[in-house]
Amino acid sequence: MFNESNNDNGDSTVASNPAPVRTNLTRSSHVSLRPTGSVSARSTTGTKANGIDDRRTPEAKNSTNSSSRPSGRTGDSSSSYRDQNSSRGISSSRGPRPSGPRSGGNNRRPMPSPVSNLKMNVSGDAPTYATKTSENQELLAEKLQTLAMGRDGSKFTPHGNESQGHINPALINGPSMQSASPDIFGENPIVRLIPLGGVSEIGMNMTVLECGDDIVVIDTGLAFANEKMPGVDYIIPDTDWLEQNRHKIRGVIYTHGHLDHIGAAPYILPKLGDVSIFGMPLTLALLKNRLEEFEMSNKIRGYLLSIDKPLQLGCFKFQFFRLNHSIPDVVGVCIDTPMGRIMYCTDWKFDHNPIDGRPSDYGKIAKFGAEGVRLLLSDSTNALVPGYSLSEKEISKTINDIFKSRKQGKIIIATFSTLIGKMQQIINACEMTNRKLVIMGRSMVNNFNISFQLGYIRVPKGMVITDQEMRRYRDEEITVLTTGSQGEDNAGLAKMARQEHPSIKLEAGDLVLLSNSVIPGNENDVAHLTSSISRLGVDVINNKMFDIHSGGHAKQEDLKMMIGLCRPDYFQPIHGEHFMLVKHGEIGESLGIPHDHIIITDNGRITELNSHSVDLKDEHVTEKYVLVDGNGVGDVSAEVINDRQLLSKEGVLIIVMTINKNKQIVGNPEIISRGFVYMKSAGDLVESIKSYISTSFESEISPVTDDAADYFSTLRTNIKRSVGNFIFKKTEKEPMILPVVVQI
Ligand SMILES: [Zn+2]
Ligand SMILES: [Zn+2]
Repeated sequence: MFNESNNDNGDSTVASNPAPVRTNLTRSSHVSLRPTGSVSARSTTGTKANGIDDRRTPEAKNSTNSSSRPSGRTGDSSSSYRDQNSSRGISSSRGPRPSGPRSGGNNRRPMPSPVSNLKMNVSGDAPTYATKTSENQELLAEKLQTLAMGRDGSKFTPHGNESQGHINPALINGPSMQSASPDIFGENPIVRLIPLGGVSEIGMNMTVLECGDDIVVIDTGLAFANEKMPGVDYIIPDTDWLEQNRHKIRGVIYTHGHLDHIGAAPYILPKLGDVSIFGMPLTLALLKNRLEEFEMSNKIRGYLLSIDKPLQLGCFKFQFFRLNHSIPDVVGVCIDTPMGRIMYCTDWKFDHNPIDGRPSDYGKIAKFGAEGVRLLLSDSTNALVPGYSLSEKEISKTINDIFKSRKQGKIIIATFSTLIGKMQQIINACEMTNRKLVIMGRSMVNNFNISFQLGYIRVPKGMVITDQEMRRYRDEEITVLTTGSQGEDNAGLAKMARQEHPSIKLEAGDLVLLSNSVIPGNENDVAHLTSSISRLGVDVINNKMFDIHSGGHAKQEDLKMMIGLCRPDYFQPIHGEHFMLVKHGEIGESLGIPHDHIIITDNGRITELNSHSVDLKDEHVTEKYVLVDGNGVGDVSAEVINDRQLLSKEGVLIIVMTINKNKQIVGNPEIISRGFVYMKSAGDLVESIKSYISTSFESEISPVTDDAADYFSTLRTNIKRSVGNFIFKKTEKEPMILPVVVQI
């Protein structure tokens, strides 16, 4: 069910000459991520460009453009692990010190910012292990330029005539005084803070700031569906309200590259009109890759943030500070608003020995705190866990110990492809124990390539090998990094467990390391997978070190330290289930924040900052989620299939069918329904669906393609379409159809 890349087939590997980060800009599309951008070059902006409503699923898009599949072996690129061993780096060029306004009662509107605020230089953001030369700086700039423009040299073009919507004054002339209604910027401006996700669950992080005619969005994440949502892979925030106000949006800031922060971008950004996005280099590169998986046919301008350069968007001034987490390039945001300063601490922990050598910016946080913080928002994921968070150095030691203890057999590690920090730790452990590394799974390969090319991963010469080259080495010289830790049927690990993998044969003596965190709903799949692996005589370790949530998030003592550094007037815990927010609130209270200054909010609920207080309003802009069927391979209609009401009204129909090696249907399909109202009253409907599938399999359903990789996705698409039509004709209902195809 859960697939980080939606289309992982587990077969791609990294070649020793890695393919460049692919761009695949279609003729009508520009996903341009520009390290520097002359905003004044744009004449107008559009709310709706060509293809913006393209809502086909990623799979559908991929299936129509097979060139979007990354290939690990098209490496004619000049970059290779052999010659780019030393990462490129850049010297830090600091801009003038920002002078943040004092918090509280700041009724004066900041001066409009010049356009040049948006021309961000690529500076100050290289990993510290890089050598600092200006040449390297150029290299990184060039690399990012390449990312921005695509290998084919397609350049960003101003929107010109296609635009039909608003002109975003903040982006063209700085914030426009005239655009604000007078009462908003009179004596008592009001700032509204609205979490659209992330405060009633883990994941789906998205926050909106609004003041007058200015809106800035922070993150557009997804959450994984729970077991109560059959067939649903993701939940994303409901953005109806935001869409209605999209003319006010001055930009979307991304704090880091995890899916619970960037994952909903392909669904949400197109609905926000002509929007500019901002993020650190790795974040934007991962986001760009995410958008390309969906072949986003819209125009999204990406601007690189520089950690030391403030950013003015509308009446909001943003300053950034570095935080540790399980991925590099995480930023916290200090936001100066007309109603005082807000500190936004996304996923974070304090780590004095982080794997990339860059601890959190304690000094900056303390300085921002000393200048006065009206409202602190901080990560509550581990608010129930006492103590300090583990340093990456300790985590490395655990991984190293596991490696050292294995004198024989392969080591196979299945984890999430976005845990970039873990990749480096695995590389280090391989180096220490003289193992070669084979990387498998599309998203793993993609994210590895991106991180390597941007210099976030250091790889010793010759360490990463292809699956072909693997045959030249003994088992105890091999480590395999793969996706599929959630038991996904078609991912590399499941194939290995079934002994169907083309290049990896699991044998007694091998070790499989699995992530401990199982996304709700996947428990059975994972248990089944674990059993099949151990039946082969392979050792399986469920390891916390490869979890998404452990390790990367601050525990109680760190949370206290953050509150202590910021010394906020008000405190709003974010990122967590309600009970985690409450616990985090209690921690704040124990440090002296008055009880009525602790704001436990809900998705969609408005917090208002005015001149005398910060108030939690009863008003919600939304109380809904949007459910996404990421499994809906190639569904020609919407990828955002349904909200909960629709799901419960129309129900779900799961069709389980078996095909043999010759691609013939075996036996009768099985049909399972949930909430599909016609099932009880019409048992013969089930029979008619079954016989429809059996009789029309050859003519209507069976894919024409011979391409093995496309076969199953096309098959599922065909089932959904033709069975969907059949059911609609009979019942005028459109249940969600989930085909499950078993091959024997
Ligand atoms: Zn994260
Ligand atoms: Zn997160």
